[in-house]
Amino acid sequence: MDSKPETLLALARGGARLNDGQVRALAAHASPEALFDCAVALTLQGHGRLVGHSRKVFIPVTRLCRNACGYCTFATSPKCITAPFLSPDEVLDIARAGAAAGCREALFTLGEKPELRYRAAREALEGLGYARTVEYVAALAERVFRETGLLPHINAGNLEAAEFRMLRPHAASMGIMLETTAERLGLRGQPHWNCPDKQPGARLATLEAAGAAGVAMTSGLLIGIGETPLERVDALLALRAVHERHGHLQEVIVQNFRAKPRTPMAGAPEPTLEEHARTIAMARMVFGPQMSIQAPPNLRSGELRALIDAGVNDWGGISPVTIDHVNPEAAWPELERLDAETRRCDRLLVERLALAPSFARRAARWTEGEIRASVLRSTDAQGWVREDDWIAGTRMPPSASIRRLITRPAQARPSSEITTILHRATDGETLDEAAIARLFVARDEDFAAIVQAADTMRARLVGESVTYVRNCNINYTNICKHRCGFCAFAKSHAASALRGPAYTLDADAVVDRAHEAWERGAREVCMQGGIHPGYDGHTYLELTRAVKSAIPGMHLHAFSPLEILHGARSLNLPLEAYLGRLREAGLGSLPGTAAEVLDDEVRALICPDKLDTAEWLAVMRAAHSSGLRTTATIMFGHVDTPLHWARHLLHLRALQADTGGFTEFVPLPFVHMESPLWHKGKARSGPSLREAILMHAVPRLVLGALLPNVQTSWVKMGSEGAALCLRAGANDLGGTLMYESITRAAGGANGQWMNDEDLRAIATAAGRPLRRRTTVYGRVDEEQAHLAPDSTTLTVAAI
Ligand code: SF4
Repeated sequence: MDSKPETLLALARGGARLNDGQVRALAAHASPEALFDCAVALTLQGHGRLVGHSRKVFIPVTRLCRNACGYCTFATSPKCITAPFLSPDEVLDIARAGAAAGCREALFTLGEKPELRYRAAREALEGLGYARTVEYVAALAERVFRETGLLPHINAGNLEAAEFRMLRPHAASMGIMLETTAERLGLRGQPHWNCPDKQPGARLATLEAAGAAGVAMTSGLLIGIGETPLERVDALLALRAVHERHGHLQEVIVQNFRAKPRTPMAGAPEPTLEEHARTIAMARMVFGPQMSIQAPPNLRSGELRALIDAGVNDWGGISPVTIDHVNPEAAWPELERLDAETRRCDRLLVERLALAPSFARRAARWTEGEIRASVLRSTDAQGWVREDDWIAGTRMPPSASIRRLITRPAQARPSSEITTILHRATDGETLDEAAIARLFVARDEDFAAIVQAADTMRARLVGESVTYVRNCNINYTNICKHRCGFCAFAKSHAASALRGPAYTLDADAVVDRAHEAWERGAREVCMQGGIHPGYDGHTYLELTRAVKSAIPGMHLHAFSPLEILHGARSLNLPLEAYLGRLREAGLGSLPGTAAEVLDDEVRALICPDKLDTAEWLAVMRAAHSSGLRTTATIMFGHVDTPLHWARHLLHLRALQADTGGFTEFVPLPFVHMESPLWHKGKARSGPSLREAILMHAVPRLVLGALLPNVQTSWVKMGSEGAALCLRAGANDLGGTLMYESITRAAGGANGQWMNDEDLRAIATAAGRPLRRRTTVYGRVDEEQAHLAPDSTTLTVAAI
């Protein structure tokens, strides 16, 4: 194998894993320029323009330590401090101050096993009721999380697997710096002399134990303490080896030694910026694009660009409350300053939790219990901290920053990557999964550019009118044999006392509602229900006949693909034959619900006993070929990711290209408040506002002229959110609804109906006229269009 640097760099760029020999050859021979160039390319591949940071408080539980590192001013002796350990009240005071300042992480950093060296530490622990420091730390972490909500990240030194397992329920992640693998640095006169816990073998054994216990770990190098450049590479390779066994390294820190007065290494030279940058670049080469590579910004004040240009994608924990107790001379940069400096490097500062985003996305693998629930509830689909307080289904107003990005022309240009994808989309090209997923994670100027492109495409394809249909929802039963984890609507007989009563509406009750809706001007009944174990295909046929024979002019838009599949199977009929019978009975079109996310990986988590992706698509294909138009939906923001959303859109696009049977695409943000899955701590809190807006803009661009109607749901988005979506690619407001009950059961607060004037106000807020339509997007004649319903006088009790 050719080991020229340019060959190795080309291999790395192409996604190859360089073996240990290749890494060493690269370290020895690559020019800094070529190395940095490749490292930055890989960083952008893995992280885009985002640079993470965590808002934290630093909790120095004890400054007593059994080691005596030659560079350390953190460790001290019992006679220099008032107490060997912070008391629980002192710890909680720090944590509460952090929580009040918007922190989300409690960083527990402490000396190693002081009870093995100091009698004072043993006695203090005994007084607190503990035999070992690690037990005290576990108790503190539990209280800090319980009382402040801060997520603990614990750096407790060398531990065994059993100790990791003891701490795991109380921590989002843990850490231990490997520092170096150079054994000779532990000899007399070297920085790790008299430091039993700094033996490289012990550190690596700790990382192995953490992996065995399933703990997400932070580790890294401390460079400039006497190791050679090749020894730095050896340390990186040792970290990679342990990570490849367990997959548990969430980030690798490359920290530079700072000489401190009154330490044995006070006069030692500090590593140069170039050495530091080169080690960062080598870390990127060793770990590839996805690993988070971190450098502490307070130790390179004014030199951050060099770190970014070497492959850093994370600044680590930044505290607005506490100092860096390990480097007390180096102040944290204020967040505003760090944000500005990061922007000057053409990057975007983004907040993360103590659990790195790629690990937060798999919180069930790395955390447990309430910690897992907290991680999921506070993160978006990429695992970053949710940007604002907006929640789908509530009346929370959209954040000013998102509103500004949508309503004011972008001040800065989008990235070249987004510009290229947008050109491809506006040219009508079918985007691939990766490009669509990239659009879904856009922020800032990229976000603004996508919204603008979607709005332009909307104007070109369907003009300025905002359409709506005057309809009523009838959910004829909430009894359901399925157990979809997200669903707050369904009841079984056994659980009928939970979250309100179980009910069924017979055909007469359904017709009563439809009649009243007709009187109020509705021309569509949207009818869906749970899968009642006593209902079969005849039930759906009877409901259809009842409504159509009572009100022939009413358009019946009814039965999700799940109900259709259930009906067809219960009568032992092929899908087309059953759909044909429903059509003869008067069914006009089908709602495209029960799609959730068309990816079986997601469905296995949120609706395992429901129809799968292929079955949903098969029902839709059969409906279209039977002459029944359908809508298409996505219910997103729970356990799904942008890649799943991309797959969903590509399924819809492919089917639409074949059949042309979809009338509209309807994004349905997950409303979490009463959802069982959310209460069990297994789902996020719905999409962020940015994600919800993008779920209107991106489908507009992906589906293009094939599916020109994108609806925004006022029930889920709220009036203000819906108005923003109308400026982001949407052209339809859905319906007046009248008896909306599914979102209300999930905790939604945006009401059960809207009249024409309410809807007009939303359209006007987006600067557009309102126009009534039929279910399948036909025009409504003038006389009917002016027959205004007065939904406030509905007399049939809404369930
Ligand atoms: S989502 Fe539909 S199928 Fe699933 S439990 Fe709820 S009502 Fe039943």
